[in-house]
Amino acid sequence: MAAADTAHLTDWLRRFASAVAEQERHLTELDQAIGDADHGSNMRRGTAAVVAALDDPASADLSSTSVGAVFTQTGMTLVKSVGGASGPLYGTFMLRFGSSAGATQELDAAGLGAALRAGLQGVVARGKAELGDKTMLDVLSPALDAYDAAVVGGGDAAAAAAAAADAAPGLREATAPLVARKGRASYLGERSVGHVDPGSASITLLLQALADALAQQ
Ligand code: ADP
Ligand code: MG
Repeated sequence: MAAADTAHLTDWLRRFASAVAEQERHLTELDQAIGDADHGSNMRRGTAAVVAALDDPASADLSSTSVGAVFTQTGMTLVKSVGGASGPLYGTFMLRFGSSAGATQELDAAGLGAALRAGLQGVVARGKAELGDKTMLDVLSPALDAYDAAVVGGGDAAAAAAAAADAAPGLREATAPLVARKGRASYLGERSVGHVDPGSASITLLLQALADALAQQ
């Protein structure tokens, strides 16, 4: 069964940064409607800093670096470089992903699923949001259920990541009718209805980037 190694997972982070850069304006427009119009710039700054840290010649050679080390560095970079709710939330996701992965240089489908779920649990612990609160969780949590279902059905990491990515756009659009109960959008109450949650849009990019990176093996 095909596994996800440090190179694939680093490629995931690079692809996510490219997608965020491409979609920066759109993410900001979503946040303009129900927040403070900084989600695109927050995510762009953070993901650019992540790529700069990966490119830093002082970083260890990727061929000998563990998944845990890459994602711990990534999480710390996001927490340091992004103001706003999304920095600590994405940072915690990456830190927990890294701790779950640990010193290995390769994750199989179950190991990758466990690391993703540890990341999700970090977002819940940090943000205290529940399903239906109109946050990134409304995409992340059911998309990881789709990942797990694909693994139970015998899928490898690439197939499971594709299942999560395929579920994400519909879940993202399903945040529009919800009333925001967490973060800045919650200040708007009922007026948040009718708008897609910005964090749900960036999480969709994260899941698509993972599927794309694993499809390359
Ligand atoms: P800020 O809200 O501080 O301006 P961003 O605009 O970068 O930060 O990010 C907003 C996104 O963060 C929201 O669209 C939502 O998906 C996510 N978010 C906000 N608060 C929480 C929370 N408590 N739990 C999970 N996600 C949250
Ligand atoms: Mg904002």
